[in-house]
Amino acid sequence: MIQHRIQLDLPPTARRIPKSLLQSVGDARVGEHGGYYAPAFLVVVEVVGLLLGLDAVGGGDGGELDVGVEVWEGGAGFDVVVVASFAGAEVAVTHCVWGVYYLGLCVLGLVLACAKMTDDNQATELLYLTYDGNFKLETEATVLHCQIISNVSKPDADQSVRIELQLNQTTMHPQGGGQPTDLGTISCDLMEAHIDKVTIDRGTGIVTHAGSISIPHGDMDTIESSMKSKSVQVSVDPCNRRILSECHTAGHVVDAAMAKCQALLPPTKGYHFMDGPYVEYKGNIIENKDEFLDKLKQAYCQLIEEDIKTTIETVHMDEAESICNRVAKNFTIADFCTEENPYVRIVSVAGFSCPCGGTHVKSTGELKERGWCVKGLRCKKGVVRVRYGPKD
Ligand SMILES: [Zn+2]
Repeated sequence: MIQHRIQLDLPPTARRIPKSLLQSVGDARVGEHGGYYAPAFLVVVEVVGLLLGLDAVGGGDGGELDVGVEVWEGGAGFDVVVVASFAGAEVAVTHCVWGVYYLGLCVLGLVLACAKMTDDNQATELLYLTYDGNFKLETEATVLHCQIISNVSKPDADQSVRIELQLNQTTMHPQGGGQPTDLGTISCDLMEAHIDKVTIDRGTGIVTHAGSISIPHGDMDTIESSMKSKSVQVSVDPCNRRILSECHTAGHVVDAAMAKCQALLPPTKGYHFMDGPYVEYKGNIIENKDEFLDKLKQAYCQLIEEDIKTTIETVHMDEAESICNRVAKNFTIADFCTEENPYVRIVSVAGFSCPCGGTHVKSTGELKERGWCVKGLRCKKGVVRVRYGPKD
């Protein structure tokens, strides 16, 4: 195996790097040539070498041919020298031309590495955030990262394995903000993944689609690499999305109904899961609870009858402030955006606007078929919880 070793000899003014640091960046040996090492350069070389598959900055395992580039301090400046060693005996093979060639490869590798890293780490574009995207269930996307998670070996049959996919964009809603994960498929000519859990890293904005695939066991070793940069079809399960969107919208109708009943309490939590959805507010219901519940139920039904259109828009935080806190100062808009991105997605359901990242139905009238209604009210320790759901 040929190892490419690159070493930079600098004037004595350069800082000598502790051996431990060098070992942490690679196998480069200190003192072999009595040289001084530039850490940044070595890190670059190490990264580039790994990316180029060169096993760079090798230590020259005894008996193997070891080829490296060194920069030697010459009289008038620096010489770039290709050095080859075999079993510890070292000779300068050539000056300049090959040295420059190797360094050129390093720079190219570094550029490619940076491009690759920015590509891999790019936040997933969430298509459902726009109004049109909210209703778009299918899209083409490019695979940025593919990983097989488990590998149950069944040599004579197709294997069903867990897979994780990260894409440049998606129509799938990741679990969060009180809304469960979308389900669906991601497919191409190589495989069809049945996605059962979509998650988002809030720090990086990267969405991970996890699911299972069934592929011939012979293709198992190559699937990760062949999926890279592959164009895939993303399809959201329409029935699951529909019910989740209804459930989330129905939760917002509770907000609007509460406002209609003059109970302008700050919303603190929304649980839009089908196993018992509810919304919570900070505060208390002053009047008779049963009376209030009847009033709330009526207001809710009326808002559904009125068939009020849902709107979704992303606006600057100043505008969001005036839209959402028009009636009562219930939202701290700054919590929904950052200095780098001062824009907030505002959803208006039944005329009531608030910051929201979920998916919704087009109008309150669409909640009629399943008979969404208010089901109960509980006030405890300064928390008002309104249970809601489809008709039993
Ligand atoms: Zn919401």
